[in-house]
Parts: sequence; structure tokens; C-alpha cells
Amino acid sequence: MADNKDEKKVDEAEEELVDFEEDGENQEVAAEKKEGAKAGTTYVAVNIAGFRDFLLKPELNRAITDNGFEHPSEVQHQCIPQAILGQDIIAQAKSGMGKTAVFVLSTLHQLEDADEKFVQCMVMVHTRELAFQIKREYVRFAKYITFAKIAVFYGGINIGRDKEILRRGSDDFPNIVVATPGRALALTRDGDLQLNRCKFFVLDEADRLLEKLDMRKDVQEVFVTCPASKQVMMFSATLPKDIRETAKKFMKDPLEIYVDSQSKLTLHGLQQYSSDVDEHKKNRKLTDLLDSLEFNQVVIFVRSRDRCEQLHWLLTDCGFPCTMIHGSMDQEERIKTYQSFKDFKSRICVATDLFGRGIDIERVNIVIQYDMAPDPDTYLHRVGRAGRFGTKGLAICFLGGERRGGYGGGGFSDLSDKEVMRQVQDRFEVEIKPLPDKISVDSYMQS
Ligand code: ADP
Repeated sequence: MADNKDEKKVDEAEEELVDFEEDGENQEVAAEKKEGAKAGTTYVAVNIAGFRDFLLKPELNRAITDNGFEHPSEVQHQCIPQAILGQDIIAQAKSGMGKTAVFVLSTLHQLEDADEKFVQCMVMVHTRELAFQIKREYVRFAKYITFAKIAVFYGGINIGRDKEILRRGSDDFPNIVVATPGRALALTRDGDLQLNRCKFFVLDEADRLLEKLDMRKDVQEVFVTCPASKQVMMFSATLPKDIRETAKKFMKDPLEIYVDSQSKLTLHGLQQYSSDVDEHKKNRKLTDLLDSLEFNQVVIFVRSRDRCEQLHWLLTDCGFPCTMIHGSMDQEERIKTYQSFKDFKSRICVATDLFGRGIDIERVNIVIQYDMAPDPDTYLHRVGRAGRFGTKGLAICFLGGERRGGYGGGGFSDLSDKEVMRQVQDRFEVEIKPLPDKISVDSYMQS
């Protein structure tokens, strides 16, 4: 691609990609192949039971079929039977294994067709794009459940619109709310969002919501407005031990599913490579890769908003049509970008860690870490954007020579790229080989 690549521009712009500090928004971030499993898109599915064995509402079974889900994945198989009985759940499963469907299906199954409108289900997530994505998941599975009304609330847009939706008598009054913590709290404090009859409370990417005190406080303040009897469910690919303890304080006798052997978090369909690249050679290396690799869609991670903007303009200038997403962008623009990338309107997206977790874009089969992740968990979440639901993918990370820094607030911020890479390999028991000159297309593209 990019026939009109202009190498001179790459060289000129290389010096311009300055190393700005990543700010708070970067903190917006943050397996097992079954025996006898098949290659391709369904190898993660557990074949011993179909979705029909869960005895979900017929309306849900119809939507499941419409959406092309044939077999539940392992985490779905482990959790859905308990979740629909109302048990609290804390579940860890590797990226892209369908954790969203666990709570979407089980809450829709239990949703009551009540005469009086009230919020029955509250889902909290750490980014606005993820909130938007989860609302869409609810909408597609609630296709035949006519009484399901789903609303999404997040900051960056006028709160008046949210208040209008929550007004008594509003036609759009939701029984399911998906929200980010700040906006949820504002609406709760103002008395617009009333959760005194809420029956299901879900935290997706739970470790991200609970690890930092300020976000945890927001979540807690919303949580305590719900009745004690609600069902609580929490999910993530990464659940450090201290977070599990915090999480369990929100629950009663939960079903606990952890992946204690970190090696099982490795995505087997994903080819992972690293490349030592000095800062001033990164642009050339990146454009060479974009020229030579075949891809459906690619996400390129950088460590700050400024680097995101600069790399986006550089690539555009060099004839690689691309889009970008970071936390300083106007909220409507962010959602539009997410939407158009998801709809395949562009094939390259430069992103900060805003896109590092939870975001599900099926056609992404390559992730490039232009700036290496600050810690192993972030690495794991980022590469998980490729290879969704057991599909093939390719993850390449550049390892710069210098000390990194610039991640602001992260405990690992002083680690060198190579040290993070060493920890990734140790923890997940995976060998990440140096990027070869040639990579077979078959190894990372679905046939
Ligand atoms: P996670 O939250 O575990 O990272 P997601 O819930 O985002 O993963 O699911 C990853 C992708 O797999 C999504 O595109 C979703 O639609 C798809 N998916 C989930 N469960 C199934 C299933 N049982 N069969 C087919 N596709 C599925």
C-alpha cells in the first residue's frame, strides 16, 4: 500500500516526533488452547455444549444465532450457567474470549419486563469508547427483547442529554445503563440516576476501575446507592491478587475464575516479535513494515497524545491513509473515529492506551507498539487487540535503546523497553523472537 510513500518526508519528520510526557489519559488504559481445538476462528469455542444448553430466553437464542455465535467459549461455558442463576462472579479470561457476552447475555436473560421503569442493570467501564461498544453489544443481543432499553452515559458531552433520558416519563428511560465512572457519579449525585432498585452491577476491565483510588472511589460511591441484594459481576484479562481481594469486598460468595498460570494468558493465534529500533529510526521502520506487511487493519500504539498526533500526520503525509484516537480529542470525534475504524472506513489507527483495553475491532490483525508498553499487563492488553476470539494475528513491538519514562504515574515508568520485554517473556512464558526479515502471511492472516 501507500504507493506514493515519500521516504524523504519520513526522514525529515523523524526528528520531529518529540518525546512528550504522557499524561493522565494514558492511565485510561491499562489461556489456554483447549486440547483438540480447531484452528481458525472457532478454536476457542468449547464444543461440548451449545448456547441452547444454557436454556436462555428464546429471544436471546434467536439473537445469538443471528449474530453468528455457534459455540460458547470456555469463559462463557464456565460463567453463564451460574450467572443466570444470579450468582456473583469474578472472572479472568484472556483477551478476546467473549467476556462481554457473559454479562450481556446473563443480564438480558434475567431482565424483568416491569410495568414501572427503573434501572435494573448498571455496567461500569473505564473508557467512553468501551462504554459505547458495550451498549452496542447490548443492542444487538436485545434485538428481540422489546422491553430492553439501553442507555450509555459518559463525559465529554452535555450532561443535559443524559438527564433528559433519565427524566421520569421519558420514552427512552433505560432499564440497562452503561457508563464511565465520572459521568455515572455526577448523574447519581444529582439524583437523576437512581439505582435503588438495581439488580445487576457489572464492572468490565475491573482491575482498571479498582486499581487507582480516585476511580475506585467513584465506582464505590455509585455502588453504595444500589440495594445490597444485587448480583455483582467483574471481568478482566488481568486481575492481580490485591485487586481480587478488593473486588471480593463488593461481592458475596462469588464464583471465582482466575488464570493463575500467566502463560495461559498467551494468545496462541498471535505471532509476536520485537525489534530493536532507535528512536530516530522508528518512522522508517514503521513505514517499511506498513509497506511490506499484508493487513486488514492495524493499530499502532504510542505513549502520548502528542506523539499520537505527530505520527498520525507523518503517516498521512507519507501516503498512508490513517486515523488516530487519543484522550484530548473532542468526545464526538473520538466516538466517530472508533465507529469508522470499526466499520473498516480506515485501515490504520494510531492510538494511545485509550484503545489499549477492551476495544474489539474484529478485523485488526496487526498491532504495532511503536512505543513499547510501560508494563507487562499493558503489553498483554494491547496485543490482545489483534487475534480476537482465537483468530490469527501479528504483534510487533519496537524496543528503543534509551530509558523510557514519560508514562506518568505508572509504577513501571522507569523500566527500559528491554526490561519490560524481559518481564513479558518471563511472566507469560512466551518467547518473543526478533522480527525476521520476512514473515509468512499465512502465519498471521486468516486464510
Ligand atoms: P473479551 O471481552 O474477552 O476481550 P469480547 O467480549 O470483546 O472479548 O469478544 C471478542 C470477540 O469475540 C467479539 O467480536 C465477540 O463478538 C466475539 N465472540 C464472543 N463470543 C463468541 C462466540 N461464542 N462465538 C463467536 N464469536 C464470539
